[in-house]
Amino acid sequence: MNGKSLKTKISPEIRLSIRESQDSIRVKVGGFEIGGDNLTVIAGPCSVESREQLLETARSVKRSGASILRGGAFKPRTLPYSFQGLGVEALELLQEAKAETGLPIVTEVMSVEDVEIVERFSDMLQIGARNMQNYPLLKRVGKTRSPILLKRGFSATIEEFLGSAEYILKEGNWRVVLCERGIRTFEPITRFTLDLSVVAVLKQISHLPVIVDPSHGTGWSSLVPPMAKAALAAGSDGIIVEVHPCPEKALSDGQQSLNLEEFSQMMQGLKEIAKAVGRTI
Ligand code: PEP
Ligand code: MN
Repeated sequence: MNGKSLKTKISPEIRLSIRESQDSIRVKVGGFEIGGDNLTVIAGPCSVESREQLLETARSVKRSGASILRGGAFKPRTLPYSFQGLGVEALELLQEAKAETGLPIVTEVMSVEDVEIVERFSDMLQIGARNMQNYPLLKRVGKTRSPILLKRGFSATIEEFLGSAEYILKEGNWRVVLCERGIRTFEPITRFTLDLSVVAVLKQISHLPVIVDPSHGTGWSSLVPPMAKAALAAGSDGIIVEVHPCPEKALSDGQQSLNLEEFSQMMQGLKEIAKAVGRTI
């Protein structure tokens, strides 16, 4: 099947995120660009938990070659009893980490009311999987000039995923990066099933950069390095991974978080893959 016939599978009403509208784009985040020859590695803790935890992680991932720092301030947790994030305090800590390391910040925004403050403290807004179809939120971030990291809902088809991107683009914000983070299947061993075929599909039909989240996509830290390599080999423009100085003590997603040394080792392997696909990290 060639690219043209794949595109015929998508509703003709989806137009702004489809490749015909323009060549592949690059999205600038701080001093870095997502898309193009360079591969982007976004790393950091699932949640910002403390000053020490965040700064130690930020310094270390920077040394290992990450280009953007992640860290959740407002957390979408399955249960209301779980750690909900430090909120504005976390945003301030992210700013401090940026000031020290120079790494731009991506963090999730969960509600329309929080867009203004999260925008003030970050370089890129993350729309989480659970909010991929929160249309008022998509319209609101579409009115900003911030780059948007749009994560695929775990039950969303490719057309629904692009439909959500379309909401943001239609408001005038074309700085959208798509992120595959695993979908629900019948398989219970992994947390989700990382759909790497979507990378190849999106590369054929859309001009938007695509990155992959092997941490949420698998749920197991031991599966992160191999799936990160596979993502880059499949044509992904980068990866986003969870890293924690002491994953056993993490307040969220410890099981899928790499420790600092594991992240550093993974980066060595990714450099080999980058070379093989003619790109750089
Ligand atoms: C996260 O990045 O920590 C997160 C909650 O991601 P997702 O929305 O993909 O579950
Ligand atoms: Mn997480």
